[in-house]
Amino acid sequence: MISSPIVATIDYSFEGLQHGFLKLPYSRDDSAWGALMIPITVVKRGSGPTVLLTAGNHGDEYEGPVALIKLAGSITTREVSGRVIILPYMNYPAFRAGRRTSPIDQGNLNRTFPGKPDGTITQKIADYIQRHLLPLADFVLDIHSGGRTLDFLPFAAVHVLDDKTQQARCLAAMQAFGAPYSMTMLELDSVGMFDTAVESMGKVFVTTELGGGGSATANTIGIAERGVRGLLVHAGVLEGEPQRVDSILLDMPDGNCFTTCLSDGLLEMCKDLGDTVVAGELLAQVHDATQTGMPAIAYCANRSGVLAARHFPGLIGCGDTLAVVADILHPPS
Ligand code: ZN
Repeated sequence: MISSPIVATIDYSFEGLQHGFLKLPYSRDDSAWGALMIPITVVKRGSGPTVLLTAGNHGDEYEGPVALIKLAGSITTREVSGRVIILPYMNYPAFRAGRRTSPIDQGNLNRTFPGKPDGTITQKIADYIQRHLLPLADFVLDIHSGGRTLDFLPFAAVHVLDDKTQQARCLAAMQAFGAPYSMTMLELDSVGMFDTAVESMGKVFVTTELGGGGSATANTIGIAERGVRGLLVHAGVLEGEPQRVDSILLDMPDGNCFTTCLSDGLLEMCKDLGDTVVAGELLAQVHDATQTGMPAIAYCANRSGVLAARHFPGLIGCGDTLAVVADILHPPS
């Protein structure tokens, strides 16, 4: 396999705190011998576990970048046992453009793993993470939210894995993150995902969906910050008391959780995030955007549960995910 064109300006084995870059050559009209400089922080003390913290996998999701840039600016070497690698803006071109995908090659980083060292810019980023960062990690936390087109209840999530020992370790890490909701998540489209790459290497992996709409709130940023700290304590990298959160357990067991829009028009949500719904109940209506006097198209819940995700913009199109209804496994006491 040819080597990655990315060079790290930091040394992962150095004892102490380093702020630097992953330097990816990117020759273009406005910078002939230019490079993309992807920010990275590494802090290491002693021989404990390594936690890889990532955000900006999609460029329009902001809780993770805010929580991780603050952590990178505040963490000190003497409080760490082991190593923390912080990558707040994974798909850096997408993050700088405020977009889900890269403006350079339209790459969706979270559908690009394991990547290619001689591929597109997005493939090169994926390949470096796959071959140079993941082998170092014992725990990986990838912080997502809904971006501009989705909004979520704030949850941490794990996937159903064949290796039940690994899954139990992922579940324990998810509980340590301590989001208000904790989800066992079904992926409709798992090929090429970072999640799949990490899990297939046997690592402990937790992901999140903390909000959405292309911004972040004080509440959801707080969830991210407390969650990152909770996971670092759980991993044994930071000292501290585990946080005690009575997280509501949710499950997305099959494709029936998803409601896909089959029309174009003006979206009227009839339920909000966190509302409980019963099967057959009206979730939303889509109104004709071209003329008056036409009946709205009704979308009803396929199952009973809680509204865990919704389409965010006021206009919707055929094929958009309109809503996700999750099962409630453990309601709050
Ligand atoms: Zn995302």
